[in-house]
Amino acid sequence: MRNHEAQSLRCYNAAMDSLQKRAKEIHRRLLQAYGRPSKGNYDRPLDLLISTILSQNTNDVNRDRAFHSLRERFATWDLVRDAKPTEVVDAIRVAGLANRKGPRIQQVLREISDEKRGLDLGFLKGFEPEEARRWLLRFHGVGPKTAAIVMLFALNMPAFPVDTHVYRVTGRLGLREAKLSVEKAHEELGKLFAVDSYYDAHLNLIRHGREVCHARRPKCERCVLTDLCEYFKTLPAHK
Ligand code: SF4
Repeated sequence: MRNHEAQSLRCYNAAMDSLQKRAKEIHRRLLQAYGRPSKGNYDRPLDLLISTILSQNTNDVNRDRAFHSLRERFATWDLVRDAKPTEVVDAIRVAGLANRKGPRIQQVLREISDEKRGLDLGFLKGFEPEEARRWLLRFHGVGPKTAAIVMLFALNMPAFPVDTHVYRVTGRLGLREAKLSVEKAHEELGKLFAVDSYYDAHLNLIRHGREVCHARRPKCERCVLTDLCEYFKTLPAHK
């Protein structure tokens, strides 16, 4: 390795080490502030996949309403797959973008059935994480966040989902480059937090974003992270 390459590697390692320490401290303080999030019951990966597709561009309440409406109207995923598209769209209308989400859900169900001859994603538990990620990402409408949610919550695999709250809060805290894409942020933030902290760190960052670090007018006066926050340093009183 040439000298300048060795020097760049040392700089990169030092920067990573510093960010990992910061992430660890942030995680510790959020645990202290919010406690350990309870473990949900996500033992059916396919249910979670469909629910996460429904969650795109809407809130949790409307996602859950749409999911329950779909399950009330159709007793099985096979019936959803084979239903008239308009019936599926009607059932999930409360989630918004129903004309887009309905056909996507039916297409995902068709593709899974074609390949696996059954609508159950339990087989993914036997995959290596990277293999499971690639398998999930093949579907139109399934991006890195959806795949990571299914992996983390239903497959018990190491994945760090980055939603709008996690993206905003980690940006303000200086854990990622300001212009890093959300897609890349999954990879980069996953390197900073310890794997065994993914579940709690992900949920506590979301909670922090919802309750304190709002998109508009964050409540910094209530925040336990001010001394670790790059955004806070830029506020007029702290310049
Ligand atoms: S100090 Fe303010 S901007 Fe920074 S993480 Fe806390 S609430 Fe968000």
